[in-house]
Amino acid sequence: MNSSYNKLVQNLEYLKLKQMIVHLDETIDFMNNNQLSFTDTLIKLTDYEIDMKEVNMVRSMVKVGAFPHLKEVKDFDFDFQPTINKQQILDFTTLRFIEQKENIVFLGPSGVGKTHLATAIGIAAAKKRTSTYFMKCNDLIMNLKRAKLENRLENRLKHYAKYKLLIIDEIGYLPIDAEDAKLFFQLIDMRYEQKSTILTTNVSFKAWGDVFQDPKIANAILDRVLHYATVVNIIGDSYRLKDHFHKENTIKGEQ
Ligand code: ADP
Ligand code: MG
Repeated sequence: MNSSYNKLVQNLEYLKLKQMIVHLDETIDFMNNNQLSFTDTLIKLTDYEIDMKEVNMVRSMVKVGAFPHLKEVKDFDFDFQPTINKQQILDFTTLRFIEQKENIVFLGPSGVGKTHLATAIGIAAAKKRTSTYFMKCNDLIMNLKRAKLENRLENRLKHYAKYKLLIIDEIGYLPIDAEDAKLFFQLIDMRYEQKSTILTTNVSFKAWGDVFQDPKIANAILDRVLHYATVVNIIGDSYRLKDHFHKENTIKGEQ
């Protein structure tokens, strides 16, 4: 190896351009074999560095999103859940609904894929560098409650209000007392017409008065959530139980 090559490697090391070092030899070979110009060669070499930066950026955006898992739309079996319109879900992943500041509500019983789809849309958003955050409703309320006790509710609300996409999972699994419902309302009100929110729930809207233990607050929340929203009502069997049912049927069939 000649000394100018070594000097170049040293420079790249100093500039922390790792990918350019890794791909240096093959790029030099490619340049020689294809008589590439200086600028084209430099473009090729810097592209390796840029690609890696992009990958890392996407990875960190997804990490920041705090998703429960990394399941995407491609991992969803639409044949198993025929009441779901695949085109509609694919349209959500274009993030048009975020530009239009619309909400999505996934409504349906346990195990039908509400969290899976909400996460999949969230990951699609994070990959496109849209600030996204996933929370269980109960954790969100606990955090707001703690913030209020510590006199920093405004700050917390502003923090949650700033995400371009907030996913609030599992509304209705645990009851929310009327005081806490007000905190939840404040957040929904701050995001209304400004930012998109995805909510998942196993409780029909009529029964939200019971969830929030105050029909007036529940109505005020629903009013804002549903004003600009697509409701995906999933009617079907639990994917978690499908193997059990399948086994049961097989056993019955064999008898
Ligand atoms: P929910 O939030 O509606 O209770 P989840 O989204 O948590 O249900 O789904 C339960 C489990 O089953 C998850 O592991 C999820 O990835 C999986 N799952 C649900 N529906 C499907 C489906 N149609 N195709 C593939 N996996 C699914
Ligand atoms: Mg769920």
